[in-house]
Parts: sequence; C-alpha cells; structure tokens
Amino acid sequence: MPRLTRRGISRRIRRVSQGAGLWLRDNTGPKGAFTLVITNDPDHGTTEDYARVFGELTRLGLKVTTSVFCTLEDDSSDLARHCHAGETESLADPAFRDLMLELHDQGHEIAFHGYSQVSNTRERFVEGLEIFREALGHYPFTYVEHGGNPRKHPSDGCKRETLAMEGLNPESSYYVWDIIKDKVGCVWAWHDLLDDDYGVKQVEDLFYQCDGVLLFRRARMHYLDRVIRDVAREGGVFSGYTHFGYEGYRKAPEYRFENWTGRHLKPAVEGLERILRRHDVTSLTVQELVRTAVASQEGEGR
Ligand SMILES: [Zn+2]
Repeated sequence: MPRLTRRGISRRIRRVSQGAGLWLRDNTGPKGAFTLVITNDPDHGTTEDYARVFGELTRLGLKVTTSVFCTLEDDSSDLARHCHAGETESLADPAFRDLMLELHDQGHEIAFHGYSQVSNTRERFVEGLEIFREALGHYPFTYVEHGGNPRKHPSDGCKRETLAMEGLNPESSYYVWDIIKDKVGCVWAWHDLLDDDYGVKQVEDLFYQCDGVLLFRRARMHYLDRVIRDVAREGGVFSGYTHFGYEGYRKAPEYRFENWTGRHLKPAVEGLERILRRHDVTSLTVQELVRTAVASQEGEGR
C-alpha cells in the first residue's frame, strides 16, 4: 500500500469531493449571506413527485414560487405533445389542486402558468385567471409564461398568447397584455433567462418595468453551483428556474439542481442542505422578494 502523504490525501479528498457533487464550491471561501428564489414550472409535474420534493424543501425552510396550469388540453399541437394529461397535472386534478392549496398555506407562492399548456385565446386566458382565483382565493401575483421560444422553436410549439408571439397585439384574438396589466403583479416573459450570465445579481438587475408591468428574469437552477461563492460573498440574489418533474437533464453532479425525481431527489436535497449549513440563506418567493424590495425602497424614500 502506498504511503499517504499530506498532499496525496488532499488530492484524494479533492477528487472524492468533486465526484460527490461540487462539495468544494459551496464549502470553501468565507461564509456569506444571500437571497434564494426558486421558481418551478409545472411541465411534467405530478402530485406524487411534488409531494416528495415539496416535503423536503418545506423541511429545509425553503419557499418556492411554483406555477400551475388550470387544465390540460389536446389540440394535436407540439405544445400538446410536449406536456400532457397523464404526465403533467393541473388544477383540474383534485389531488394536485389540494396539494397546491396545502403549499399555499405553507407559504409557497402559487403562480399562474396559463389556462392550459396549448395556445389560449384571451377569453380562455381570462377563464384561467378566474379558475385560479376560485381555487386559490385570489388572482395570481406572478404569471410565468409557458411554451417554446419563437426564435428557436416551430410556431406550433409556441403559445400564441405569449408576449413574444401575439400577446401584445391588440388585433389578435390572443391579445392578453391588457388583462395582465389589470390582474397580475409580476410576469416572466420573453424567455428571459440569464443564460451564459454568471454575474452576481441584485434585485434591481432581476426586475424591470414595461408599460407599467413588472417583469423578472431568472437563471437555470444549476447555475447556483457556478455562482454561489460570488453571490454569497456579495450578498446577491439568485433567481433560479427549474422543473421538479423534468427528467431530461443529464444525471450528473453539475445538474443536481435540475434532477428532482426518484433517487435524484436525494443529491439535490443534500446539495441544498450543504448550502444552508454553509451560508446564511434568505429564501423568498417572487412575491415576497418584490414586497421586500418595495418596502425597503419606501423605507429609503422616507
Ligand atoms: Zn412551462
């Protein structure tokens, strides 16, 4: 057996650590404080998977802004094929609706993801908001658009009422901008992802106004591992986006925060536990982040 030198041992530890899932990234450097916002889109989400994921996140004291469809439709489009009844659940499923109500009571934010997963006319969009209000007791504060990006995907896979398609066009039957202005507090639109952007963000970098409507930006959840040291050091805000039900990400340590189903939940939860042990994390929903920012702005103005 070779003699283990101190350097040999630390090399070995480093190797094990990297393999075990980026342990070094969040466990070296000074302890920091940062704000963590986790948003989850409902594509491929089921009650069974969500009950496990939210059970763990609630245990850790982490809050999530999780969006919902009111129902699922089949119009034979790419959108209907992308996620559909049987593998995605909506407010039309009593068990899923009850889970959303439970999460809402626990302090998670339930956001609107549209009437259904396919293109919805403005009448359907309004109907969706009313179904949401009936189920949750209020209109959604946050609306997260669903559907493909017209710059990258065929139009059959893009929701026509999104702002990048026809949502801003008053001539279209998919015009919804006036409804958004009237009923919703904050929107994620235009596929506004912080792709290839590993800079530390503060609240003012994540929100912007458009015609009186507040919009926000988010980064893919696995970016958390890449940026955590800088975000924690600078006291930034990480606005993450994932799908608790999606299984398409490679099952590798660097994607631990994109894989939440089955046995992949454990490494994701362990990763979050390590971060929570290491740093002073303030977990907020989108709505709470906006309220906190507004309150501190008003405080400064006084
Ligand atoms: Zn979606």
